Amino acid sequence: MMNKIGKQKHIALIAHDNRKQDLVEWAKNNVEILSRQFLCGTGTTAKLISEETGLPVKAYKSGPLGGDQQIGAMISNGEVDFMLFFWDPLTTQPHDPDVKALLRIAVLYDIPVAMNQSTANFLLSSKLMEEEYERSILDYYNKIRKNIY
Ligand code: PGA
Repeated sequence: MMNKIGKQKHIALIAHDNRKQDLVEWAKNNVEILSRQFLCGTGTTAKLISEETGLPVKAYKSGPLGGDQQIGAMISNGEVDFMLFFWDPLTTQPHDPDVKALLRIAVLYDIPVAMNQSTANFLLSSKLMEEEYERSILDYYNKIRKNIY
């Protein structure tokens, strides 16, 4: 398990339908820095961003069809270490449990997450974008063991 976020970030891009345009615009404004990272995303978001920016974005399944769960699995495998997730605060989603699960996994694995443009701008302008970063990941086995013995 890689606890280290490398200089090149493995970024997942996800936006609910009403927020897709915001994320696409943001990506267009940040093409240069994004071109130096590895990008992936849920199906529709990934395709839109790729089309609009020309950047390669590996597409997983669409969110409502399991894409959020795929991204969550990649976070737990250490294959995604940075996330932009523009979720919709005004509309209920059929895959709300998956959304909640993804946010939980992102917190658990201590990865940077932006849920709106301001946070995305602050994250991208961080000096840590150019550096390696050690994440703090819970050692669950040791925690349980300490509680028992
Ligand atoms: P989409 O999925 O990129 O395939 O639209 C996003 C989501 O709804 O979680």
